[in-house]
Amino acid sequence: MSELQDLYREVILDHNRQPRNFGELEPADRVIEGVNPLCGDRVTLYVKLDGDRVEDIRFKGTGCAISVASSSLMTERIKGSTISESLELFDKVHGMLTKGSDAPEDLDELGKLAALSGVREFPSRVKCASLSWHAMRTALTGPDDSVSTE
Ligand code: ZN
Repeated sequence: MSELQDLYREVILDHNRQPRNFGELEPADRVIEGVNPLCGDRVTLYVKLDGDRVEDIRFKGTGCAISVASSSLMTERIKGSTISESLELFDKVHGMLTKGSDAPEDLDELGKLAALSGVREFPSRVKCASLSWHAMRTALTGPDDSVSTE
């Protein structure tokens, strides 16, 4: 189990050091501001849609390593997905973070995103990991343009 935890830690550190899809997106179809007051994490999520597909998705923000890595992992995975695929993935990740669903087949499907499951041991960190996922869901379902974990 500790080998797996080391791997998870590596994924988080890597995505924090070199966040994927970091920066503004102009023009964007949806811009969502997200904040996690508990930790001070802030994220601005930019989404460009092509029909029902997420053509491009980028983010800017400041926050702890978990929140930055989660935004990076989220955008990497969501880019190119359809809206319904993205919302389905939100449910799976949210379930993993909050309900502790870590059936092997779920973790297989989540791939690298399973690295975020480590936060379950630190309840105050769950909101750090879920912030950008809530922002993504809000971006794809509207009509709000901001989201807060509180
Ligand atoms: Zn945080």
